[in-house]
Amino acid sequence: MAYDDNNIFAKILRGEIPCNKVYEDDHVLAFHDIQPQTKVHVLVIPKGAYVSFADFSEQASEAEITGFFRAAGKIAKDLGLNGDGYRILANTGAHGHQEVPHFHLHLFGGQPLGRMIKPPRV
Ligand code: 5GP
Repeated sequence: MAYDDNNIFAKILRGEIPCNKVYEDDHVLAFHDIQPQTKVHVLVIPKGAYVSFADFSEQASEAEITGFFRAAGKIAKDLGLNGDGYRILANTGAHGHQEVPHFHLHLFGGQPLGRMIKPPRV
């Protein structure tokens, strides 16, 4: 799947649409989800143009991958989530119900999150 420069996160990265920023560095931007599902719901995105986790894990440089995951851990820590814990999730592709085609981690926390989501019965 080719990267779509007009996806909403590309527009946020270009500053065309505002976001409630939590963190930024050379490789990463993190901001609050516009429709939070939990008390803390932050999206962590790479600045590079990667469609999905599959794309990022195959195509991103070592520096981007390391920078991304180090930043994600730091963001969770700085949000005060390490003590009680949190959940990270990367919806990927059609079966993963990914809506925005720019790789992102969801970071959920600030409350008990229950057990893992069960997929619908087949
Ligand atoms: P996905 O289903 O692709 O994993 O999740 C996309 C997420 O992006 C959703 O949780 C949705 O609420 C969030 N989102 C969509 N548009 C915007 C936006 O313009 N700003 C912010 N901050 N979040 C958005």
